[in-house]
Amino acid sequence: MSPSLYRLGLTGYPLDHSLSPSLHVAALQACALPGEYRLYPVPPEDETGLQELLERMRSEALHGLNVTIPHKRKVLPLLDEVSPTAQAIGAVNTIYVRDGSLRGENTDAAGFLTDLGRVFPVTVPGVALVLGAGGSARAVVYALLQAGWQVCVAARRLEQAQALCQAISTRADALALDAAMLSRLTEERRVELLVNATPLGMGRQAGESPLPQGMRLPGMAFVYDLVYNPPETALLHAAQHAGLGCANGLGMLVEQARLAFKLWTGCEVEREVMNRAVTQ
Ligand code: NAP
Repeated sequence: MSPSLYRLGLTGYPLDHSLSPSLHVAALQACALPGEYRLYPVPPEDETGLQELLERMRSEALHGLNVTIPHKRKVLPLLDEVSPTAQAIGAVNTIYVRDGSLRGENTDAAGFLTDLGRVFPVTVPGVALVLGAGGSARAVVYALLQAGWQVCVAARRLEQAQALCQAISTRADALALDAAMLSRLTEERRVELLVNATPLGMGRQAGESPLPQGMRLPGMAFVYDLVYNPPETALLHAAQHAGLGCANGLGMLVEQARLAFKLWTGCEVEREVMNRAVTQ
């Protein structure tokens, strides 16, 4: 039975600049569902805060929860079921209730792939280079491998890229985020997709590019930057200047939210509804 009021929200810390409330309130309105989307900040040292939120979900005082840093991994053992995707990535970003049990999903992977397919449709996936090996890189690498891409992951700490490849799939190659190493890769293999999964380009690092100094953009690649604020990062500016196709991560943000909203309410909201909510 549908609740008379959908109580949805986001937990993580800090949550000051989240766009999720705008996305989900717009979706509730578009689907004519009564409800709310609140922020539930839980600092990393708060051991009981997360468990209390999950108890509220079990008692159906809360119907859906998004999870962000620093709880995306920590929440896994607290759930009744975790999807194979979230298990493989090692992170949950969406929690929902089915038949009284708490289920965890990761909608970042499918959200990324859906948006990539929209902005860069390919029939035969080739070689993709992912910069960064943190939480979002894990979802991106998993998604790309599922879609048939050959994936190389480059991180400033080589051991982090190696750990990612070991955890997700030995089919991915780990590299150091180093100009000589990456230039050799782009000379030897035709890189068709470059993904930035580092925070370089946003916030205090606005204006900085994740490409190591001295490395040129691959000649024929589509460039996807997970960063969406500012809409045109230094990397995307360089890609446009080089005549390459490119996109920022706003589409991924929208797609992962649409998938979460569907799990909570069963409603498919138009992409444009959420897009408008965060661009106007
Ligand atoms: P994360 O888990 O902290 O991982 C960040 C990665 O970038 C790590 O490998 C980190 O290496 C590396 N890195 C950080 N600073 C660097 C620097 N100065 N030079 C080189 N590498 C650096 O973060 P995340 O959750 O993956 O998020 C990464 C970015 O993606 C953020 O900007 C986030 O907002 C964005 N994002 C967007 C979406 C979307 O829907 N569009 C979804 C998720 C994330 P170290 O561990 O060595 O620091």
